[in-house]
Order: sequence, then C-alpha cells, then structure tokens
Amino acid sequence: MWARLSPLLIFTLWEVWQRRGKVFVTALILSVAIGWLLGWWGIVFALLFLSAFYLSVKIIWLFRVALRLRQFHKTADEPVKFFVAPEILDAADWSKFAVKVASLQSELTQQFGLSLKRPLTVLVFPTMSEISQLFQTEASGFALPKGNGVLLAWDALKGSHLPDEYVRHELAHLFSAEIGSGGPDFKVEGFANWFQGSSDGKPADFHALVQILSGRDLPLLTLLHDAYFQAQKYASYPLAGSFTGYLVKQFGWETYLRFYADANAKNFERAFERHFGVTLMAAEQAWKRYLMERRQDFEPELSQWVKRERLTVAYDQWQFWLCIEEAEVLLQAGEDHWRTIWIAAASHAIVGNYQRALELMLHLTERDDEDMRPYKVILWHQLGKLYDLLGQRDSAIAAYQKALELPDWWDEIDGSTQSQVRQYLKRPFTEKELHDRMRRRLTRR
Ligand SMILES: [Zn+2]
Repeated sequence: MWARLSPLLIFTLWEVWQRRGKVFVTALILSVAIGWLLGWWGIVFALLFLSAFYLSVKIIWLFRVALRLRQFHKTADEPVKFFVAPEILDAADWSKFAVKVASLQSELTQQFGLSLKRPLTVLVFPTMSEISQLFQTEASGFALPKGNGVLLAWDALKGSHLPDEYVRHELAHLFSAEIGSGGPDFKVEGFANWFQGSSDGKPADFHALVQILSGRDLPLLTLLHDAYFQAQKYASYPLAGSFTGYLVKQFGWETYLRFYADANAKNFERAFERHFGVTLMAAEQAWKRYLMERRQDFEPELSQWVKRERLTVAYDQWQFWLCIEEAEVLLQAGEDHWRTIWIAAASHAIVGNYQRALELMLHLTERDDEDMRPYKVILWHQLGKLYDLLGQRDSAIAAYQKALELPDWWDEIDGSTQSQVRQYLKRPFTEKELHDRMRRRLTRR
C-alpha cells in the first residue's frame, strides 16, 4: 500500500507547503504563544488542532484515493513501480509499457544531468474522467512532483497514436520540479509541452501557428496569469510550448535551465530579461516572426487545421451563426472531421435548430474515431437532450441509457456527465435548462 500511496502523499505535503507554508509557520508561532500561556502540552494541542483544521479536506481526499488505489495490481517493480487498475489489467502488455517508461526516464536523466531521488511510480487509471474528477481539473495525465509519481489515463493513451507524448510530458514535470519549483503555469506547462516533442504527432510550432492564425494570438503577458492560462488551455499550452522551444534554440539549454531555476510568478519578466538579455515583449515578437517564416513547412495541412480551429474560436466567442455558416460550407466541401461536425451540431442546438443538430449528431454515432471515444458519453447525452427538446421522449430515454453504458466524462463546468444523464432519465430536459447552462458559461468568465 505504501508504494502506491507514497508518491501522492509526498506530493500533497509538498503542494500544501508551497501554497500554505506561511499558514503553517503562523500556526506554529500561534501554537508556541498558546503553549507559553498554557504549558508545553498547549503547543502540541494547538498545532494538532490547527493542522487538522487546514488539512481535513486533504486528509479525507487522500483516504478516498487510498481506498481506490488498494484495488490496483502491481505489474512491475523494477526499475519503475507500475500499478494498473483492475478493469484494464488485460488491456495491454504492461511490463512492456513499464520498460518503455523506464527508457524514457533514463533519457531525461541524461538530458537533465540529474536523477530522481525516489524511484518512479506509475499508476494507470481506466479513464481521463476518473483522473479529472480526482484532481478537479480536466487532465489526461497528472504528475506528482517530489513524490515522483505519474498518473496516466488508459483511454487517452489508447486514443493517441503516440502514447510517448503523454509520458514524456508528465516525466518532464517531475524533472523540472527538481530544478525550479516556482510557477507560473506558463513556464511549467510550456516546458512540459515542448519536452513532450509533439502532440498528435505534430510539433508545438505547428499547433502554435494554428492558434495564432485562427484567432487565438494571445499576448504572452496575459498568459502569465495562471487562471487565464488555464481558461485558455487549448491555446496556451501549444503557445507556451512553442515559445519554450524557441528560447532553448536561441539561447541554449544551459541558459534556459538557469532561467527556469530562477523565474517564478513574481519575478518572471525580470528574470527573463536578466537571463536572456531581451524583454519578454521583444522575444515574443521575434518568436512569432520566426513562426510565420516557417509557415510553408507545415502547409497544406496547416491551412486545413486553421479552417477547422476558426470554428472553435467563433463558437467560444459566442458567434454561433458565423460558426454555422462556416461549418456548413466546410461540410459541403467534403470536410468530415468529427470535431467540425460536432461543433456545427452544437451551434445549431444553441440557436434552436434542433432537427439539424440531431441529424449531425446522429452522423457521429456511426463514427468510431479513436480520439473521439472518451467523448462518446457526451454525444449520447446530447442526443438525449435533443430528442427531449423535440418532444421524442422514448428516443431520449434510449439515448440516455446508451450514455450510461459508456465510460463517464467529467469537466470543470458540468461535472460528471452520467450524473446529469441520470437526472434526465427521471424527467425530460427543457429549453429553460439549455438557457441556464448558457448562462452559467457566460457568467463563469
Ligand atoms: Zn502538464
């Protein structure tokens, strides 16, 4: 049990110390003051009381995770401790996977010139949804710095044609935390995103160009705020990753590591200038020019991706009619990526074209794209809601039941998809709820 839980325990203590260190020092001083008044036992008592107060949520959470991890099977011990959820024990050759992780780890050991202080532990969960729910953030993997643990989601690994990318990303977090543990996310995630080498087989520069050309040319200064960085994560990860790669190329690996060790959320711009000799703004301009000059290397695929991504940008900016108009043109021209069909359907649903939305969604049920699989439960949930809005209750119930047979999905706005589905099995989904949900999305920003 200790082997399973210790990475999580050490990471949690480290995280609490990073975030709440000052609170504990204050608690200690307070305890000593109380102890001075009440005698030595007062110190112990006050300290226990205050820690229990601050840590109670974390302790309950750890307890719940421990219960789950107890079910995991150990499939390898050396050189990587490898644990797999019972539901997916037969899904892959896990000892081969463990060897792969170990070889990636030694690659990083060489590149960083340091080795992890504790042995690496890998925990494989069946779904992204379970990891997301555990950490209350949408994630296909999770690194536990200092605890040297990596959590991976089997559905994300399976859906990707390059599972190495995920492992490299999480391992990069473990190694970079040994060099410099201060934020911001722009630095930490940018580094991991660059280090993973590619996403969906394409380099960070490609993805950054897609974002820049499709209307998400976000100024780097705004990405230094973690809340904004996370709210814009589909754009901010590749932008930060590509920029990191540019810095390493321009100024060298050693200089970059020194900057990484020094920079944090408070001194970021100053540290940047000190180590690279240019301001962040100047480097950003040069980096974007460099990307635009490389644009031809990525054609004609780049333009295709940009067209598709512009739809998502329009959708996120609440431009549903624009989105519909452009999506329908693309679909007529033969575009058949599932994301395009999905976003067209979602836009039609929002403006009230339920019948067209239903037609498009039904198309998607016939598809079996690997990277769409984790979202299939949402697809059937949406279908159920559309049938309800069209007054076809029997079809709605059948769709909801289908959703309950699939692995769940969890996201930050709506939580667990299946718990919503169970609600609409009892009573139909209404237009008022559609508007309430839009309201929630609008007021969240
Ligand atoms: Zn990350």
